[in-house]
Amino acid sequence: MKALVVDDTKNDRLLLTKIISSIGYQVESASNGAEALEKIRKEKPDFIISDILMPEMDGFRLCRELKNNDGTKEIPLIFYTATYTDPEDEKLGMLEGAAGFIRKPVEPLKLVEMIRSALLKHRTGTCAKAEPVITDDREYYSLYSQRLLNKLENKAIELENTRNKLESAFEELITLDRHKDNILSNVTHELRTPLTHAIGFLELAMSETDETRRDACLEKCRGALFRENKVITRLIETANLEKGHIRPVIEIMDVGSMIKETIQALMPNAIACGIDISSEIGADLFAKGDKILTKHMLANLLDNAIKFNRNGGKVDISAYRKNENIEICFSDTGIGIPRDKIDKIFDKMYQVDSDSTRRYGGIGIGLSTAKSIVEAHRGRIWVESKAGMESKFFITIPQEL
Ligand code: ADP
Repeated sequence: MKALVVDDTKNDRLLLTKIISSIGYQVESASNGAEALEKIRKEKPDFIISDILMPEMDGFRLCRELKNNDGTKEIPLIFYTATYTDPEDEKLGMLEGAAGFIRKPVEPLKLVEMIRSALLKHRTGTCAKAEPVITDDREYYSLYSQRLLNKLENKAIELENTRNKLESAFEELITLDRHKDNILSNVTHELRTPLTHAIGFLELAMSETDETRRDACLEKCRGALFRENKVITRLIETANLEKGHIRPVIEIMDVGSMIKETIQALMPNAIACGIDISSEIGADLFAKGDKILTKHMLANLLDNAIKFNRNGGKVDISAYRKNENIEICFSDTGIGIPRDKIDKIFDKMYQVDSDSTRRYGGIGIGLSTAKSIVEAHRGRIWVESKAGMESKFFITIPQEL
């Protein structure tokens, strides 16, 4: 028994050939209607399975040619299509005398079952007649062109949608590219600034003959190198957190004391900016977690509350126990966050102002790191803010991990 597979897609041809060979057919294949007709003229197959949308001669026209020819009209032809899937397409196919109409893709076993059933119906005369039911050429071509037009219209809509998608993807890429450039220049700036200071103070110290003034320069050089170290440490920590290289060490943490220690550590920054820090820390704020990571997260939030504040502003920190959780809030009277930026604030390397001319330093990784740390403790972090007025960062972490 012989079968002919007609499809312009090589992989579909190969797959169909494999499936149909597996049920005992000797399979020939063709890549369009015209090539199929040539093969059929040389040797008639027992059935044909054909795609519809193909170059040179499509499946509809192949079917019409076969059914209009006494020598080939008895050969059952089954359509197997992924593009002409409209009920009207099926109607035209069956009116042309096809033995079956199958929509791609169908699993191999199911496809074999569908082919067998179509061939049985053809043999018993319960489905298509051997000749095309539409005998009037004008009627046929009108129906045929309607189907083509419909396909073209759908394709045009599809192309328009794809064009729109491409346009927005392109715009997104441009924004991302700009964002990447900003990140690079900000990181470079943050790395270069303390280093330039350190070199400057070191050179001054080397040329200084007065011992007290030289020590003062060296002290400033050390401070700048500490700042450099802080930036590099932050970058490495973030990279490690990203890669999951940091394994949290779980122990009992006294979160209340940790907040107090963080305030003490950052007090010199606050004083330098004329910021008043007040706190309300409840009792028994114990939780299980990683002390180093949690301290890092607390320092990031307090650092931001001071940095993004106004001169002479305030920072209030509260921490208390609520049910099985510890709730912490960092509240500041600073620049706030515009409503349309608030959703992005915890994204990696996002900064509300990332221009090279921005007022505040930083590389935009503090909040994304803080979020990863809070989530590693099965907690939650969120922000409420009024642009130009205040920001409140809330954290809740469960006492038990
Ligand atoms: P960085 O401080 O290095 O810029 P962060 O990840 O800590 O990075 O913060 C990301 C951005 O979120 C900041 O650049 C800033 O625009 C905004 N932001 C963070 N904290 C505050 C705050 N307390 N008030 C206003 N804006 C803030």
